[in-house]
Amino acid sequence: MRDFSDDHRWLSLNTATVRKQGDLAQIVDACARHGIRAIDPWRDQVAAIGLDRAVRIVRDAGLDLSGYCRGGMFVADDAHRQAARDDNRRAVDEAKALGASCLVLVVGGLPQYSRPGSVASRDIVAARARVDDGIAELLDYARQVDMPLAIEPLHPAYAADRACVNTTRQALDICDRLDPAKSGAIGVALDVYHIWWDPDVLAQIERAGKARLLAFHVCDWLVPTKDILNDRGMMGDGVIDIRSLRAAVEAQGFAGYSEIEIFSNHWWEQPMDDLIHACIARHRTVV
Ligand code: ZN
Repeated sequence: MRDFSDDHRWLSLNTATVRKQGDLAQIVDACARHGIRAIDPWRDQVAAIGLDRAVRIVRDAGLDLSGYCRGGMFVADDAHRQAARDDNRRAVDEAKALGASCLVLVVGGLPQYSRPGSVASRDIVAARARVDDGIAELLDYARQVDMPLAIEPLHPAYAADRACVNTTRQALDICDRLDPAKSGAIGVALDVYHIWWDPDVLAQIERAGKARLLAFHVCDWLVPTKDILNDRGMMGDGVIDIRSLRAAVEAQGFAGYSEIEIFSNHWWEQPMDDLIHACIARHRTVV
């Protein structure tokens, strides 16, 4: 297992962590100030400054992209499916232009919440079937441009409105169906916030192996959690055994970035440099 205590060279900043403090250009400047080598930007932050400018500032700063957030929401009804497909292909193209290591997929829950305008449904079985079809279709496209797809299983609390893929096992089952050869074209983005509770997680990380482990996201689970979306904790402030999970992915050969992704009403109110200081300190002591 890598020793993170002396430096933060394997820290990546998911830019949603500081989305309220500045635009993508300001975040890239902050990364330079703090010696951060990698980010994972969100599509809306890229769109806000323009893709061409985003590509330029990322390249000029010499930043790696540990992922690009995000594609997915595959559950659109028939009337919206074409638009969803086009949107996901654009996400692949943007990831490619930015030089991302993978496109993170949040697959969608029930259609009316995931693709607004879609017909309301309580059929989570049908939603999961649409997810399978949607990922298969996008994978064909992503393979052509050599952009790996990373399915992020989300905690079951998000099954209705964000993702009906809720366990690492479920995500790996999809990967195995679509890519039995483990070619590297599809794998998982494992976020400790979503997987820490799962009694099967260590066995599934072993099953995933290096070929399927495309991204590793860290934050913490606060008790009590006041807001299921925007009350994530700083690493060390909650109950997740982050180091055991990192040890498990690294035992499989994962050697990428530990990406800090904290959606937090509390942390969004702090100055950007203070928040990044805290991230670096906890990356060294807790991650
Ligand atoms: Zn994540």
